[in-house]
Amino acid sequence: LNRRLAEFGTTIFAEMSALAVRTGAINLGQGFPDTDGPEEVREAAVRALRDGRGNQYPPGPGVPELRTAIAAHQLRNYGLSYDPDREVLVTAGATEAIAASLLALVEPGDEVIALEPYYDSYAASIALAGGTRVPVTLRPREGRFVLDLDELRDAVTPRTRLLLLNTPHNPTGTVLSREELAEIAKLAVERDLLVVTDEVYEHQVFTDENGTTPAHIPLATFPGMRERTVTIGSAGKTFSFTGWKVGWVTSTPELVTAVRSAKQYLTFVASGPFQYAIAEALALPESYFTSVREDLRAKRDLLSAGLTAAGFEVYRPQGTYFITTDIRPLGDSRSHGGDGFAFCRALPERAGVVAIPNAVFYDHREEGAPFVRFAFCKRTEVLADAVDRLKAL
Ligand code: PMP
Ligand code: GLN
Repeated sequence: LNRRLAEFGTTIFAEMSALAVRTGAINLGQGFPDTDGPEEVREAAVRALRDGRGNQYPPGPGVPELRTAIAAHQLRNYGLSYDPDREVLVTAGATEAIAASLLALVEPGDEVIALEPYYDSYAASIALAGGTRVPVTLRPREGRFVLDLDELRDAVTPRTRLLLLNTPHNPTGTVLSREELAEIAKLAVERDLLVVTDEVYEHQVFTDENGTTPAHIPLATFPGMRERTVTIGSAGKTFSFTGWKVGWVTSTPELVTAVRSAKQYLTFVASGPFQYAIAEALALPESYFTSVREDLRAKRDLLSAGLTAAGFEVYRPQGTYFITTDIRPLGDSRSHGGDGFAFCRALPERAGVVAIPNAVFYDHREEGAPFVRFAFCKRTEVLADAVDRLKAL
């Protein structure tokens, strides 16, 4: 293994999913729904396969039907207008979109700022691109993980090339507010930064207890941002088809061309027939997106309440599939002295549940040590069973 990848072993998701299979534990680790997406979208994939659409290499930028549907989705939801031919690129999931963006836009030695805790592929992709990651830590304040905008400002140096943003944020569930995003946008313009923004959970934002829903606002909608922002989306999360690996990038013709230059030598193309199916999925009525949101909100509430009752401190997420908890209130022995790694390694045997130690998403491991992430994109009965097991911990 070369030096760039030496620090990255097996991903935590593979490790923990294997542990779940080995122990028969309930897998609240890896974030994938245990119910597949809509029947009609699966049918659309079958039709594409049967009719011979996408069984051979699709066009490099993605099939026109899907690019048109992605552009229409950005316009309908956010008022962002993209030319499907020059400003949209289909990728093999958001994972490839992230890797290709960094490989295309970062020079060796450039600094890349990422919010910490960060999704694990960010660190590896920055490393593959030869960049230096500069984490800015989100810290809990009044029940929510918060970005310190002064720290973000201080993290920018003359070597900073790019800001890698993620909202709604995995694993904390924070949805950056309009005010926070406006400050980030101002900073990006002032310091002439590119921004790659991972918005795969754009449709997973939940109404809070006062009945307000924190809007997901794409960074590209802020003044001066469209021309410096690469926005990433994924059908895996939006439609519950994580195995299909259909993702996308929207940006300017120059930036899309750059990302495509890297992408063409990674996978060239992917997911032919599924691209046609996702084109149809993106045109589903608003009621589909609303019902997914409501269903997930109920699951979030069920698992939040259960974890609270089991003795965890719960950071109720505004979005995503995940709840971050602090294990320290469980007490020293049950929480393994507040060590999330030790806790998660022992949890399948002790309670029959798999969770993810947030420390893996940190450079400053000590900051993340007591936090543990549970996924709630699972059937209600599975969540209820997990809660019973955790209460008996
Ligand atoms: N970004 C974030 C924040 C994620 O949680 C994930 C995992 N779904 C991805 C990117 C990767 O998405 P995909 O499965 O489309 O590659
Ligand atoms: N994004 C998913 C999560 O955070 C996992 C995807 C993967 O296994 N790479 O759980």
